[in-house]
Amino acid sequence: MNGLLCKSCGTMYPMNDPRWRCDCGGLLTVCFRARFDREKIVRRKPTMWRYREALPIDDDDHVVSFEEGMTPMIPVDLGAGSLLLKLEQLFPTGSYKDRGAAVLISKAKEMGIARVVEDSSGNAGCAIAAYAAKAGIECEILVPESTSPGKLAQILLYGAALRRIPGSRENTANAALAAAETTYYASHSWNPFFFQGTKTFAYEVWEQLGFRAPDALLLPTGNGTLLIGSWIGFRELKENGLVDIMPRHIAVQAENCAPLLAMFRNGLDSVPVIATRETIAEGVAIANPVRGKEIVDIVRETGGEVLAVSDAEVEKALILLGGKGLYVEPTSALPVAAFLKYPGVRFGDVVAPLTGHGLKADEKMLEIASKGRKKRRREGRTTA
Ligand SMILES: *Cc1c(COP(=O)(O)O)cnc(C)c1O
Ligand SMILES: [Zn+2]
Repeated sequence: MNGLLCKSCGTMYPMNDPRWRCDCGGLLTVCFRARFDREKIVRRKPTMWRYREALPIDDDDHVVSFEEGMTPMIPVDLGAGSLLLKLEQLFPTGSYKDRGAAVLISKAKEMGIARVVEDSSGNAGCAIAAYAAKAGIECEILVPESTSPGKLAQILLYGAALRRIPGSRENTANAALAAAETTYYASHSWNPFFFQGTKTFAYEVWEQLGFRAPDALLLPTGNGTLLIGSWIGFRELKENGLVDIMPRHIAVQAENCAPLLAMFRNGLDSVPVIATRETIAEGVAIANPVRGKEIVDIVRETGGEVLAVSDAEVEKALILLGGKGLYVEPTSALPVAAFLKYPGVRFGDVVAPLTGHGLKADEKMLEIASKGRKKRRREGRTTA
């Protein structure tokens, strides 16, 4: 049956009920029978909407799209082995969050919603703001005060109302929950339609590998929007008999903020309270991910693991990527850092996304780039 299912109490709501959580406070999941018609898929435009029968939007007229998706996937030789990188930084707003925003805002339009609120450390806010602008939906974005200036400019230019919240990322989340009492919450962590968009990552990997699943995925993970979406996508492909195996879902966290690592290592079933420090991987600095249990269950079920890397390792990976012509924001280098650090992940086809563009984080990037330049100079690799 189609609808929105609460995993805590089992209540099923109609698909087009404008709600983002259950009356009991539980998280909702979209129940929807995804279908795939390979003949049709390959004949359509190279966008994420080529999997139209798998996306839970009733009417084509409600689709809000910049013809996004079908990002390139290329092999990169990292010395220690070869990794397939999916260039998700090439989305219209500069991160893969557009996948989620495209489906969520299309659904909001379908439901006749006039106004949305979202909180984000940056990229999700940019994506929701852009798609809301395209849909003619009013939008308010709440961000922590520490968010990169580039992301703030982007949100403002898309015409969203921007509110900067002092204190931690959690303060911002709490302020958004309060605002969501009266406005539809276009949250990338709570709203289940966001994951109906991020699942298209899996479909594209499947198609680009010649209609099969890779052995493993290395995914930078905080709230798990890509990890959970990917799992939904591969599970749907498996249910339709289109892949034989579920790829190992390997979550990569920043050492300075790694609640999922603590959960996984200690066999816990809920997110523990942990000490955190600031990290350059701002995109995944989530101390209390609301879908933490879902994330760790997926990791366990697929035979994956949770790994963590330090800021220094992230910087090294960023510099290495830059030297190969790939300019991404610090958070996006997490999977590459993990690939270099943990030989155990390097067998079979391993796919990792480059989640966000380097142009998003100019100040941090400049600092890291000058360190990289000094290092190259010390090693005598530059004449400058
Ligand atoms: C959102 C984001 C991620 C991963 O985020 P989750 O919190 O797991 O959803 C990774 N990289 C970038 C650049 C992001 O914006
Ligand atoms: Zn419930």
